Amino acid sequence: MAYELPIPRQGIHTRPFWEGAKEGKLMLPRCIDCNTVHWYPRHICPNCHSINLEWIEGSGEGRIHTFAVQHLVFGPWSEHAPYVTAYIDLLEGDRMLTVLRGVDPEKPETIEIGAKVRVEFEQANDDTFIPYWRVVGE
Ligand SMILES: [Zn+2]
Repeated sequence: MAYELPIPRQGIHTRPFWEGAKEGKLMLPRCIDCNTVHWYPRHICPNCHSINLEWIEGSGEGRIHTFAVQHLVFGPWSEHAPYVTAYIDLLEGDRMLTVLRGVDPEKPETIEIGAKVRVEFEQANDDTFIPYWRVVGE
């Protein structure tokens, strides 16, 4: 089935992320000077303002920091409502906003803050694999 949702445009500073995603790897920017992993990708470390950055392969593991059920949605996502968005606490540090999979938006009481999640990638086109996160068992 064709991917019908908006596809992010790739920039030169996010290329390592998208190249990793093609191989099922969650690539994350890390500051060489202060060792802080940050998300989203930037040209400068948000912790110490160094420009000495590198990309590391993340574990693809995290936990739900918080979530919201999206009922009233406009645009291309409207056909998918209700769905659950969440901030994921990455194992390596910082947070990533995602659409959460493996949960029932009609039963938000079954979704737990702190639940373990794992990243997965859905192919959107030849060059783009979109990260989503799914609740997994402990
Ligand atoms: Zn830094």
